[in-house]
Amino acid sequence: MGNASREVWRAGPQMSRREFSTAVKVEIIKRATHGGQIRCDVCGVAVKKFQIDHKIAEAYVTDKIRKLTADDGQLLCSGTPDSCHDRKTATDDVPGIARAKRREAAELGVRTSPVKPLQSAAFAVSERTAKRVDRGPKEMPPRRAMFVEE
Ligand SMILES: [Zn+2]
Repeated sequence: MGNASREVWRAGPQMSRREFSTAVKVEIIKRATHGGQIRCDVCGVAVKKFQIDHKIAEAYVTDKIRKLTADDGQLLCSGTPDSCHDRKTATDDVPGIARAKRREAAELGVRTSPVKPLQSAAFAVSERTAKRVDRGPKEMPPRRAMFVEE
C-alpha cells in the first residue's frame, strides 16, 4: 500500500496538466486507423510508434475543468527526429509557450525579468525534449483536415 494509489488534490485545476483517459485514447487511435493501419493524423504515414498529442499545448489552456475529448487530441507519428510528434515538440510547444507567457505578462503590464528560458516551465521538460529545442525551427507539414472520407 503506497501513496501511488491515493489521489491527491494539489494546487487546483489550473495547475494541472490534463491527460487523456484510456477511452479517449482508444477513440483517437480508432479514428486514426484506416484499412487496419494506424496513420499519423498530420502526415498520414502508417506509424509504428505514435504519441497522443494535445492539439493545444496544455500550458495555453485556461479551461482545465472541461474533460479532454478525442477532439482535443491527435495521433502523431513519433520515434524519429523528423516525426510529427518530435518536430511539434521542438518547434511548436516549447518556444510557443515561452512566447505566450511573455505576451501574457506584457498584456498585464508585468515587467518581465531577464529571460531565463525553460527554468520556470509549467511542467518538467525532459532531457530529450530540451535537446530537441536546440535544433531550431523546422517547417511543419500542412495540417490535414480531420474526418476526411477516404
Ligand atoms: Zn506524422
